[in-house]
Amino acid sequence: MTRTARQSKKTSRILIVEDERKISALIRKGLEEERYAVEEAFDGEYGEQAVMSGRYDLVVLDIMLPKKDGLAILASMRTAGVDTPVLMLTAKGSVDDRVRGLDTGADDYLVKPFAVAELLARVRTLLRRKKDAEKSATTLAIADLTLDLVARKAVRGGKAIDLTSKEFALLEYFLRNRNRPLHRSAITEHIWNYNFDTGTNIIDVYINHLRAKIDGGFPVKLLHTVRGVGYLMKDP
Ligand code: CA
Repeated sequence: MTRTARQSKKTSRILIVEDERKISALIRKGLEEERYAVEEAFDGEYGEQAVMSGRYDLVVLDIMLPKKDGLAILASMRTAGVDTPVLMLTAKGSVDDRVRGLDTGADDYLVKPFAVAELLARVRTLLRRKKDAEKSATTLAIADLTLDLVARKAVRGGKAIDLTSKEFALLEYFLRNRNRPLHRSAITEHIWNYNFDTGTNIIDVYINHLRAKIDGGFPVKLLHTVRGVGYLMKDP
């Protein structure tokens, strides 16, 4: 694995949904200086599409947006079970928006105009909180599949699934990175702590066993092959 790939594995991905390009550019610059991977969406429709992918670690979401406002995006995110932390941007004086935002499931808010340093501090706090919550979670779930990390049991559609310890570790890794394509080398490195020689298919063998157990007999498949990359556990 190259050094770049190793680094990008740990880089938090942040999406900015903000139509005012000057503000978006300013936020982007600040975040990139902190080495976050940043993407931008300049209207509500595109922003909603992007957040629904669940592939961000945090979303900076403006409320006043063309096509679809930030509160509506936030509501559909939370309804769909996308739990990505959201830092909301609100206009000065709009107390109603702030209250509605927090009620709808925003994790924090900033009132415009704000200092970029302040935004960076909030982002750090939210990302740390997310990491802590992930660490202390005792169950992980996707669709009708749950993995109990304490009892070490997997259940899908009410049916218990027997997993070997490697399969359990694989499933836990996929669930912690759900909706994110995982490179084969990242998977082997994480599960076996070293890289297999290129050309070996041992990882595919393990994943096929896991796939047969969790997806076999279920019409909705959760574990997908990403050609040329690796694997992806995806919300149906
Ligand atoms: Ca705006």
